[in-house]
Amino acid sequence: MVLSCIDPRFQPIVFNYLNKKKLKGKYSLFTIAGASIGVTAPKFKNWHKTFWDNFETSIKIHNIQKLIVINHRDCGAAKIINEKKKFNSLNELKIHKSSFKKIKKIFKKKYRKLKIETYLISLNKKIEKFN
Ligand SMILES: [Zn+2]
Repeated sequence: MVLSCIDPRFQPIVFNYLNKKKLKGKYSLFTIAGASIGVTAPKFKNWHKTFWDNFETSIKIHNIQKLIVINHRDCGAAKIINEKKKFNSLNELKIHKSSFKKIKKIFKKKYRKLKIETYLISLNKKIEKFN
């Protein structure tokens, strides 16, 4: 399953990236503001359960083996989390990294046998993997 953000600018980038990875027709897509931010940040706590329930259902129906998380730079959800602090690339990176850490922690506890990968797309369309 792929977890990505709702931002229109990044839809073609995500789509092309997954095609390049030869995943066309092989993934389910769950799209929500902030991607891993939306499903881990306390600010969006009403969304968390929906994601995990949906993921559980996907595993049962579609034999999901892996969760691919794709966040992106200049994300509106990151701006909301950042609140009144100055929004710069360093603060934003911290927010993405923290959400990757959180989602991995929850994921590994729930799904020991499945894999998770986390990525961040920059504004120049580069996609960086985070371990
Ligand atoms: Zn976003």
